[in-house]
Amino acid sequence: MVRNTYSELKRCWTKKFSDSDKENIEFEINELLGMALGIDCRNPLFAEKLIEVADEQIEKRFEKLAARRMNGEPLQYILGEWEFYGLPFKVGEGVLIPRQDTETVVDVAIRKLSDRHGIIVTDLCSGSGCIGIALEKNLYCEKVVCVEKSDKAVEYLRQNVRLNGSEAEVLHGDIFREDVINAVPMSDLIVCNPPYITAEDMQTLQREVTFEPESALFGGEDGLDYYRDITRIYKDKLKNGGLLMFEIGIGQEDEVMRILIQHGFTNVRTRADLLGVNRCVFGEKADKIKLCTDVMSV
Ligand code: GLN
Repeated sequence: MVRNTYSELKRCWTKKFSDSDKENIEFEINELLGMALGIDCRNPLFAEKLIEVADEQIEKRFEKLAARRMNGEPLQYILGEWEFYGLPFKVGEGVLIPRQDTETVVDVAIRKLSDRHGIIVTDLCSGSGCIGIALEKNLYCEKVVCVEKSDKAVEYLRQNVRLNGSEAEVLHGDIFREDVINAVPMSDLIVCNPPYITAEDMQTLQREVTFEPESALFGGEDGLDYYRDITRIYKDKLKNGGLLMFEIGIGQEDEVMRILIQHGFTNVRTRADLLGVNRCVFGEKADKIKLCTDVMSV
């Protein structure tokens, strides 16, 4: 039997992927073939390999990976690792995939806190740990605490702490349970990318997203449950002048800003991502002592 070269394999699967309306086809096929070959597709050796006749075992391995992708499984789960803020994160079934959108929250936090030393940061609903770990690597932190409820996600979180040589503390538990709340330190920054998809939007998720854990996506009927509860509970875990910072879904900025204002936060702002979508809402816990002296000096 005449065997295909790796290039021919690529061509055949490029056609299958384009017939199924996938985007970034060249990139995805290269990543999957690189995985099957055990050679990073950015390595020059990969390009050299393409003219060779495919090894039967490797061809089988590649076809299995490509078939998983054809079935809609996210590329990130198949590869098992994904980059966020220039850092590697292990991912797989049971943990939300770090998204570029979320880099907006990290950017805002870094911009607001870059000149502060010895800060305490708490990342709620931490998932893979991408926000907390990226902040630890880019700010002068005394302590970073990542809180995650899901057993599966917390395994990835722990792996990612090790993988990145991070000193972030992992707190495994439900952010609404009293023992967890008590264990969270008084923080300079509390950051969270909570589940925020509405009941209606959960019905029409993109196929890839249906592979991700519902508990990381569904934010209650109007998508805002976590914003209300976290703001109410965790404002008491912020130091005076501390920042509460959320990632939000498209069009949620007005409601989330209102929640923060209702709870007494000041300088409540929103920030857009690279596509111009408002992705981050944040506010400062009013400094009561400062407010008092301001009033007295009027
Ligand atoms: N950003 C994710 C999405 O829209 C949702 C994640 C979340 O709810 N925090 O697919």
